[in-house]
Amino acid sequence: MSQSLKAITKPLIQWFEENKRPLPWREGRDPYRVWISEIMLQQTRIEAVKSYYARFITALPDVKSLSEINDDALLKLWEGLGYYSRARNLKKAAITIMTEYGGVFPKSFDQLRKLSGIGDYTAAAIASICFDEKVPAVDGNVLRVIARIRKNRENVLLPETKKRVFSELLEIMPDQAGAFNEALMELGETVCLPNGAPSCENCPIREYCAAYREHLTEELPVRIKKVKRKKENKSVFFIRSRDNRVAIEKRPDKGLLPGMYQLPNIEGFHSEKSLHKKMKEWDLDADNITFIKDAKHIFTHIDWYMKGYRVSTTSENNRFIWVTEEELRSDYPLPTAFLKLLK
Ligand code: SF4
Repeated sequence: MSQSLKAITKPLIQWFEENKRPLPWREGRDPYRVWISEIMLQQTRIEAVKSYYARFITALPDVKSLSEINDDALLKLWEGLGYYSRARNLKKAAITIMTEYGGVFPKSFDQLRKLSGIGDYTAAAIASICFDEKVPAVDGNVLRVIARIRKNRENVLLPETKKRVFSELLEIMPDQAGAFNEALMELGETVCLPNGAPSCENCPIREYCAAYREHLTEELPVRIKKVKRKKENKSVFFIRSRDNRVAIEKRPDKGLLPGMYQLPNIEGFHSEKSLHKKMKEWDLDADNITFIKDAKHIFTHIDWYMKGYRVSTTSENNRFIWVTEEELRSDYPLPTAFLKLLK
């Protein structure tokens, strides 16, 4: 069990009880109200949510009224909040609560998780805040606070990190589970602020915080956005001349594999006819083009999908460098991507 995390529960809950902001959905721990506010807060800041929330709750004060509203009126009420699918999911879930739970709000994390539009975080928030189920509600605020306390350098944008934080918190959940979850969120929203700007001097748990102790609050948490991978298809040629020499060429000095040698290749996959045409364009008399194999090579941000072809030609052109296989092995090492086609 994590001692430093266990130690924060008491002072954090005490701080929360003394400092929590008076938010309209905090009155009475009504699951319906907590639910609506949590869904609205997924896309909008607390201050902006307040007026939308008031309008919504006045028009639809309970699950029954939400389940019965017509779609146009619902979307009108949601106007300004965007993400209209969230409003539709609210109604869907309200109908489920009316039909499957007799209008009584489900209490457990597992039941809540099954309702439309309710993910792990929202289910945990409702189950803990309204019913004190000992289940952690892990959002971006909580991930930031925990990364700092534990001096954890794992990327907080990865699902594995969220899973690990969830398990660590699960071990130390106190009886006042709702207050603890809310306290962690509140600390992240009001004190342990992002972008290296936490106000540690006002933090009730700074004595347990490794980032504070070691002056690492600027560096933590680590957030690395996943770069979108590019996919490229290539036709690659192992061209051998009648004199038993192989065609290679030098890659440009900039970009991927700068200045290295490579087998001739073209973008995309092509028919046999257009491969023959390409050889003609390259001024090569290709009497035979045979498919060798498919191969894939993964660079940092690019995946190459390759089709390899063996080409025998009677001629040698000036476009390529023609080398013996011996020279190819000793003087012109090919990048692994191309070797995969020759193995
Ligand atoms: S001491 Fe500072 S960095 Fe650590 S949890 Fe508190 S506010 Fe965040």
